[in-house]
Amino acid sequence: MTYLVTDNCIKCKHTDCVAVCPVDCFYEADNFLAINPDECIDCGVCEPECPVGAIVPENALPDEEREKWDEINRRVSEWNINIVDQKDPLPEANDMDGVPNKYEEFGIIPIKDITNE
Ligand code: SF4
Ligand code: SF4
Repeated sequence: MTYLVTDNCIKCKHTDCVAVCPVDCFYEADNFLAINPDECIDCGVCEPECPVGAIVPENALPDEEREKWDEINRRVSEWNINIVDQKDPLPEANDMDGVPNKYEEFGIIPIKDITNE
């Protein structure tokens, strides 16, 4: 079992969750945070910290949604940008809270690799 970050994190990214994770298993995209399912110890302390309810235990999701968000959380974790300190949410966070189907509309955008500039 693991916890997964889901749709409502996209374009919100409050990052309250990273401040409490005991194993620092959150990874950052430009418009989303992910949990590495292989590192998460299922403690559950991040779930109530998310102000927009984006973190769920995987077994709370229907099969199709669980597979989809497991794959997305793994993909972002593989980009390997670990985040351990809380920072400001995205400027559009309040407006984007609760907007449906953000993944289909906006996708997940990697953080630009400034070393390639
Ligand atoms: S607290 Fe919720 S919205 Fe904020 S980064 Fe974590 S999962 Fe995303
Ligand atoms: S459930 Fe615990 S270990 Fe897993 S991401 Fe949340 S705080 Fe970290």
